[in-house]
Amino acid sequence: MNKYHGKSTTVLKPRTTKEVSEIVKWCNDRRIGIVPQGGNTGLVGGSVPVKDELILSLANMSKVRAFDDVSGILVADAGCILQSLSDYLAPHNYVFPLDLGAKGSCQVGGNVSTNAGGLRLLRYGSLHGTVLGLEVVLPDGTILDQLTALRKDNTGYDLKQLFIGAEGTLGIVTGVSILTAPAPQALNNVMLALPKFDNVLPLFKEVKRQLSEILSAFEYIDRSVYDLAVKHNQGRALDAEEVEGAECFVLVETSGGNREHDEQKLNNLLESLMEADEPLINTGVLATSPAQFASLWAIREGLTEAVSKEGKAYKYDISVPLQKFQEVLDITREHLKSKGLMREGAVRHVVGYGHVGDGKSGNLHLNVVADAYTPEIEAALEPFVYELVAKYKGSVSAEHGIGVMKTHALQYSKNAVSIDWMKRIKQLFDPKGIMNPGKVLP
Ligand SMILES: Cc1cc2nc3c(=O)[nH]c(=O)nc-3n(C[C@H](O)[C@H](O)[C@H](O)COP(=O)(O)OP(=O)(O)OC[C@H]3O[C@@H](n4cnc5c(N)ncnc54)[C@H](O)[C@@H]3O)c2cc1C
Repeated sequence: MNKYHGKSTTVLKPRTTKEVSEIVKWCNDRRIGIVPQGGNTGLVGGSVPVKDELILSLANMSKVRAFDDVSGILVADAGCILQSLSDYLAPHNYVFPLDLGAKGSCQVGGNVSTNAGGLRLLRYGSLHGTVLGLEVVLPDGTILDQLTALRKDNTGYDLKQLFIGAEGTLGIVTGVSILTAPAPQALNNVMLALPKFDNVLPLFKEVKRQLSEILSAFEYIDRSVYDLAVKHNQGRALDAEEVEGAECFVLVETSGGNREHDEQKLNNLLESLMEADEPLINTGVLATSPAQFASLWAIREGLTEAVSKEGKAYKYDISVPLQKFQEVLDITREHLKSKGLMREGAVRHVVGYGHVGDGKSGNLHLNVVADAYTPEIEAALEPFVYELVAKYKGSVSAEHGIGVMKTHALQYSKNAVSIDWMKRIKQLFDPKGIMNPGKVLP
């Protein structure tokens, strides 16, 4: 996003955990700040130095350490690229329980450190559940070896959970043990056009009821961001006349064990939705080939890029109750209008898309697309958006983390007692404050 710039002179790329430990101990003795860096794809500036910290890149630690094809447990170096782990698992008929648009560059250590959510969360749950163990180099250089392959281990405090989502502020993750999932035998998807946002929740309920165990993704895309994807050539799911009158779209994916059975279920779903007395959808397109399956996903995965091509985006990755998605977009648009900023030369679009979660709260990517980043627009958006999120008891960061970008906003989602205990934990692990200084905690 080209927002943060540091003045580091040094990048070190150790090859072993022992080397990481020696570097960290050396830095700790001299109070030298360290920024752990994975694939550098994070969206909140966490992997970017803010001053003159030393950058410790995990790029040279990229080996699979072990894989058990009975249990599906994978143990890998933290520097393994997500896509390469997926490729490694494919011939064994397993899939990595996390998938996201940055998979070609992001590393598993970075995924764990940001507690990345992504496109498969609805199916496989969060990394807090699938990560079984971690190897971490603590800020004094000690190696904390909790690289267990046990699914059940109730022996006191579960320390690894502290490092999942810590964004490199408590230590450097060097190894990850994770439970992978059996590869689905059949993957299908369908893009549905809805006449109004109010139909999204009833549709989600109906889709869950009819598809039950094979439902693996339910992604929401509002009309304006869909149009941006078409404009910037990220793909096209439906013909121009088919999208007429559609206020939003939903991409549904199924992953199951029997192609015929799954296709039948999807066809039945489509039929029942179209033939209902008051249809929840205008129309839908069911992928009939692997190429079409990929192209429907390409639209969803290309939204971030389409937004970047359109202008400078203020990105808010928030958790709010599902029924409030549209309200958040409308209120933000109206607010910018009232400030005289919804005009040419200032804000061009307020768009939204996101992962629909467990039916109560969902993850909305609210993007405000402007001609340029300006202090005026920023002042209109912050703390306005964060206060809105706090009003709904949501989260200012659903999945991207806090990094350097949102340290000032932490208070809108965490109360004073929680922040105080976070500071005490940081102090306990890293009393000299060398580990990713200036990130997460103000
Ligand atoms: C196109 C695109 C799509 C994305 N989609 C999603 C999505 O769907 N869901 C989602 O949750 N996120 C998404 N993201 C953001 C996501 O957080 C990152 O892509 C990814 O999880 C970060 O991994 P990384 O290796 O690039 O980490 P980096 O960006 O290098 O680092 C991220 C943070 O983790 C720390 N860190 C990195 N490696 C380690 C380590 N080994 N030990 C300790 N700390 C470490 C860094 O210091 C930093 O604070 C997306 C990003 C892009 C560019």
